[in-house]
Amino acid sequence: MKLLFVSTAVGPLGAGIAGGVELNLLNLAGELIRRGHVVHIAAVAGSQTGDVPLVAAVNGLPPAFAQHEPRDQPVVLPHPSATANLWEAVRALETDYDLIVNWGYDWLPLYLTPFLHTPVAHVISMGSLQDTIDAAIAGVLRSFPGTVAVHSEAQAQTFAGIEGLVILPCGMDLSAYTFRPRAEPYLAWIGRIVPEKGLEDAFAVAELTGLALEIMGRLQDEDYFEATRNAYPRAVIRYRGFLPTSEMQQILGRAQCLLVTPKWVEAFGNVVVEALACGVPVVAYRRGGPAEIVVDGMTGFLTPPDDPHAMAAAIKNLPGIDRACCRAHAETHYSLGAMATRFLDWFEHCMRIEVALSEIT
Ligand code: UDP
Repeated sequence: MKLLFVSTAVGPLGAGIAGGVELNLLNLAGELIRRGHVVHIAAVAGSQTGDVPLVAAVNGLPPAFAQHEPRDQPVVLPHPSATANLWEAVRALETDYDLIVNWGYDWLPLYLTPFLHTPVAHVISMGSLQDTIDAAIAGVLRSFPGTVAVHSEAQAQTFAGIEGLVILPCGMDLSAYTFRPRAEPYLAWIGRIVPEKGLEDAFAVAELTGLALEIMGRLQDEDYFEATRNAYPRAVIRYRGFLPTSEMQQILGRAQCLLVTPKWVEAFGNVVVEALACGVPVVAYRRGGPAEIVVDGMTGFLTPPDDPHAMAAAIKNLPGIDRACCRAHAETHYSLGAMATRFLDWFEHCMRIEVALSEIT
């Protein structure tokens, strides 16, 4: 297959602004190239794509973060728009490819789908946040069934009334994560530092347990981080910044557990798989994608949402979790190979549906 992966316009790949999408896009591209496919990337200028060719690097202003906008926000394109520039690049390049894969959570690529000559597959990595995007997803699914994918059941359910979303869990390059059988006395929390990730609850758990908290991830909301620190003065925390995977997994791997405290419906939660890959149990709220990955009592614990006391209580039971079992679970269900196979099957469907439709018309 010849595939053009079109990244999200929120920031350059490698900066951590787009969260899990960055790793998913790059890991999958690498694995498909290894299997003999051609994958090229179109992304915001400054993107780091390693060995994967960056055939279009566009400038322009990023879209607003959908999670910080009202549901009924109309579509707003800043000028100049990175999203528009990305899809201008797609228009110029599309005939070189069998399939365009959109990784952005944006109205424009969904709207443009019927105007392009090459089929488009859409990977949606956030739950329902905006009415305009929901309507555009429904429109694409009516014209091109099965061409919009999400990462978990919980994420699919946020799109009320939209049927036919394909569910494709993510996978990780497990060779990048070292299994560590022994834990040191600290907790880990990983994610973009923004209110929807609920870092304050991890601070509360750190205070309740007296365990230090290692924090890794891009600091997107400094005021929020400052307010959280002030609210939990007794929590012992170490903030490491946004680290490359190789450094992140070294700190993560020796933690007693990873805390996952989302305030929104997390679409998947790459960090959950990354923890399991290191043999680290996960203590997560029973909400969104992480609740579909963690096997309660086997690879960690699921606790009632928004209740740090329940998390602190679960941490006492961590000695009952077998770290080897955590690693094995990641290997069985969330390897990069498994992800690539799931995506390849879906890409084939997306290419076939276009052919089938053109034969009907
Ligand atoms: N991440 C990283 N370095 C850090 C912190 C996070 O590379 O210091 C990556 C992590 O590997 C994961 C992503 O950021 O792939 C976060 O993705 P997740 O799905 O957990 O959350 P999202 O930000 O997409 O909501």
